[in-house]
Amino acid sequence: MSLQISKRLSSIPASPTVKLNSLAKKMKLEGKDIISMAVGEPDFDTPPKIIDLAIESLKKGRTKYGTPGGGLEIRQAIQKKLDRENNFNVDADQIVVGMGAKEILLHTFMSILNEGDEVILLSPYWVSYHAQVNLCGAKPVIVPTEALEKNGLQSYITSKTKALVLTSPNNPDGSVLSNTTLERIAKSVKDKDIWILSDEIYEYMNFEGTYSSLLSVAPELKNCFIVINGCSKSFAMTGWRVGYGAGPKHVMKSVKTLQSHSSTCLPGFIEDAATYAISQGAEYVKDFKKSLKDRRDYIIDLLKGTPLIKFEVPAGAFYLYVDISPALEKSKNFERTDSIGFSEYLLNEHLLAATPGEAFGTPGYLRMTYALSRKDIETGIQRFKNALKQITD
Ligand code: PMP
Ligand code: GLU
Repeated sequence: MSLQISKRLSSIPASPTVKLNSLAKKMKLEGKDIISMAVGEPDFDTPPKIIDLAIESLKKGRTKYGTPGGGLEIRQAIQKKLDRENNFNVDADQIVVGMGAKEILLHTFMSILNEGDEVILLSPYWVSYHAQVNLCGAKPVIVPTEALEKNGLQSYITSKTKALVLTSPNNPDGSVLSNTTLERIAKSVKDKDIWILSDEIYEYMNFEGTYSSLLSVAPELKNCFIVINGCSKSFAMTGWRVGYGAGPKHVMKSVKTLQSHSSTCLPGFIEDAATYAISQGAEYVKDFKKSLKDRRDYIIDLLKGTPLIKFEVPAGAFYLYVDISPALEKSKNFERTDSIGFSEYLLNEHLLAATPGEAFGTPGYLRMTYALSRKDIETGIQRFKNALKQITD
């Protein structure tokens, strides 16, 4: 067949996090006793009041097209939230609401990038940044976070650098950028025309300290600063698809234009429920954070002392990023000694889904989500240890 898909799309693989989650779900439906630590999704239910508000809104007839970019009410709730919690003062027309942070990110990249531009991603990075930058014909430039912490970003910045993505707490390793690192970044980008995309989706899941973003150490960067956030993680609303961006007006206007040609808008009844959630803020979901911190401590306890693996205690989000390369190097009679091979083996032979580090630019690692019940965490870790033992004994 000579009719092929576009060159741009043919080099973009499907999201491995989403794919693995679907595979684990399919295997569960087939009756297999799968534990899935693969996807970044809190296991909490969306708070009942948020659900009730969506139902009420549906009953009131909010079933028609909504407003591209988000209605004024939700944008004002976000405006107040950014002011109250992040000290980021913007007008309501500098905010765009859309179908998940993922859509806002894609539309933002499409709005600011030209063919050949470079975007700095700190590794390990969340998988979709890489794909989205490539989709725009731009080039991801990968900077290992340790290198940034030691030497700053100067040596990676070129005349083509258009943007830098910061994610703190980070997916996949739960790390949080320290104030010293943020200051180092601020110094590297000072007086350069580089957009800062600050993905703050795990903002409420910071266990060790108060949240700080680049803007808190360098308020003078406000004109190139774009915040990306949403309700998926904070309010356990992954399926509702609420994301937003805030930043300079001309960029947000372009993001809204793209939305008007694609998803059009967020459904009105979802907007109404999300407006309430966003207005409540961090305090409303403080129990989620407490529970995630307890589970982080639990998974660390279970893994402590396990030979041939290494990991850092994550300061936020709900992922543990484990270096399994010592085990892979020592493995015997195990044919596929990369983390993709190991994760396939883990799923097929030990019924545990976890995401291989290749997805995040760091082969040799495995990402495990611990936003699960303690019982599932315990069973999952037992399966992981059994698998490690089997390949290395
Ligand atoms: N950013 C990061 C770092 C993520 O882990 C995710 C995954 N959900 C997203 C953005 C996208 O979130 P959503 O589209 O569900 O709002
Ligand atoms: N962000 C989550 C993850 O990394 C959800 C899936 C996705 O959107 O990638 O697993």
